[in-house]
Amino acid sequence: MALRTKIPAKCPIEVLRAGSLAKIVWLAHGFSTRHGGVSQAYGGNALNLGFTTHDSRSAVENNRQAFASAVLARPADTQLKCGQVPWPIVTARQIHSDLIHFVSSRPDYPLAGDGLITRTPNLLLAVMAADCLPIMIVDTKQQAVGIFHAGWRGTLKRIAEKGAGELRRHFRSRPADMKAAIGPGIRDCCYQVGPEVREKFEGQFGYASSLFRETKESDEVRQKYPLLFLNQRAPGHGEHPEKIFLNLAEANRRQLIDAGISPQDISDLNRCTCCRPDVFFSHRAEKGMTGRMLAAVGVREIRNRQLSLVRLETDFKCRAFSTRRRWAAALPLRHPGAAKPDRP
Ligand SMILES: [Zn+2]
Repeated sequence: MALRTKIPAKCPIEVLRAGSLAKIVWLAHGFSTRHGGVSQAYGGNALNLGFTTHDSRSAVENNRQAFASAVLARPADTQLKCGQVPWPIVTARQIHSDLIHFVSSRPDYPLAGDGLITRTPNLLLAVMAADCLPIMIVDTKQQAVGIFHAGWRGTLKRIAEKGAGELRRHFRSRPADMKAAIGPGIRDCCYQVGPEVREKFEGQFGYASSLFRETKESDEVRQKYPLLFLNQRAPGHGEHPEKIFLNLAEANRRQLIDAGISPQDISDLNRCTCCRPDVFFSHRAEKGMTGRMLAAVGVREIRNRQLSLVRLETDFKCRAFSTRRRWAAALPLRHPGAAKPDRP
């Protein structure tokens, strides 16, 4: 389910939000559309957020500022005015990889990769897309976030599943505490791929067959004149499929579930960029002549965050202590009469 927030007055930017993430008070997140910016390219008044060859750098920078303000603004936020950029936007040069960067401050060198994670407040991690899927994972307990860019290549490399793994590795996140959101992107209504893509997925995922659907050019005729097709060929001797469509969102949802995230905790905005080039930038619908949208996520600094970090530290100490106690208690049973070994 998607929630829409329209920023009043001078910021006519529509920010799409995932219903389940919008309830988290310390979280800032949002998905852009193509409207409300200052780019003259791409039909004018476009919110192009990528430094493309058809748009000016200053327009994109203005658009990014406005989008960052719109993501951070909440209806109750009276202090935040449109046009301010309270948080830096952190992006990476996207290379359709499974590379994920842990970020704790604004990087002073360009990153290349397709995933960013942080627990540092006041940073907006963002990925660009114009058909590929933006995916967010949020650890509601450790107050950590991750954002990932998943085209078919990144999906094949399990970027979403690895993203959840990186949150576990860096922040000891538990899948039970994670919520995820799948943003606007090309859906299986429009995402035609070649047979080589299906072969690659079949080599990687046992459930690959459930991610693809086929249609034949003659399907419409077949439906209209079924009697013409009574003389079917023997199985295995039929026509080859003419069109193959990949369900990229389902592929990523399966990976999030494989990572241990409960299906109820995965929101899908279920919006097809290619079906709606009037709302979204779509690389395929616009044959490459298009802008870029951003999906952004960050951690708000809230007063009791310090308390929660203290609690976390205490938790770790308690865990370490209880591990030592368990080790000491188990020792006589495992090594009766042995000399006390070094602590592991
Ligand atoms: Zn579509």
